[in-house]
Amino acid sequence: MQTAICPGSFDPLTLGHLDVISRAAGMFEHVVVLVVANVNKKCMFTLAERAEMAREATRDLPNVTVDTWDGLLVDYATRYENPVVVRGLRAVTDFEYEFMMALTNNKLNPNMEMVFLASNEKYMYLSSSTVKEVFTYGGDVSRFIPPTVNEAMRKKAKGRND
Ligand code: ADP
Repeated sequence: MQTAICPGSFDPLTLGHLDVISRAAGMFEHVVVLVVANVNKKCMFTLAERAEMAREATRDLPNVTVDTWDGLLVDYATRYENPVVVRGLRAVTDFEYEFMMALTNNKLNPNMEMVFLASNEKYMYLSSSTVKEVFTYGGDVSRFIPPTVNEAMRKKAKGRND
C-alpha cells in the first residue's frame, strides 16, 4: 500500500491545507496528515489540539488518518517502505524553503520521495498566519477555514479572555 504523508504545523488547518490533503487522498491509497511540533514556530494551538482539528476536518475522507510527531520527518517516515511526502506549493514564497527541505531530506533518507502539489488558485495566498492575524483583530475568517476550525478558534480566544 502506497502511503503519502502530508506534514505540517496546521496551526490552524486551512482550506488550502484541506485542498492539498483531499487531492493527495485521491492519488494515494493511504494519507497520513502528520501534525508536527515545529521548533521555529510559536503555535496558537497545542499539538493535540491541532491534530483534533485535522481529524474533524478530514472525517469524510476514509483513507486519511491523522498522527502527531515531535521529531524529524525522515525518522517518522522510516515506518513505511517507500514513503512519499506531499507538500503544497503556494505562489513564489514556498519554493525556496521547500526546495531546501527536499534536498536536506533526500540526504537524510534517499528512499523518501517528495511530491509537490501546486496550490489551488483560490488558496494561493492563504496561510495559517494570515488567518491568525485576521482573527486576532476580529475579522471574519470563515471563508478560509473549515467550520470546525472556526469553532476551535473562537473557543481558544474565549478561553484566553475569560
Ligand atoms: P510548515 O510549518 O511545515 O510549513 P504549514 O502548516 O504552514 O506547515 O504547511 C503545511 C504544508 O501545507 C506546506 O507544504 C505548505 O506549503 C502547504 N500549504 C499551506 N497553505 C497552503 C495553501 N493555501 N495552499 C496549498 N498548500 C498550502
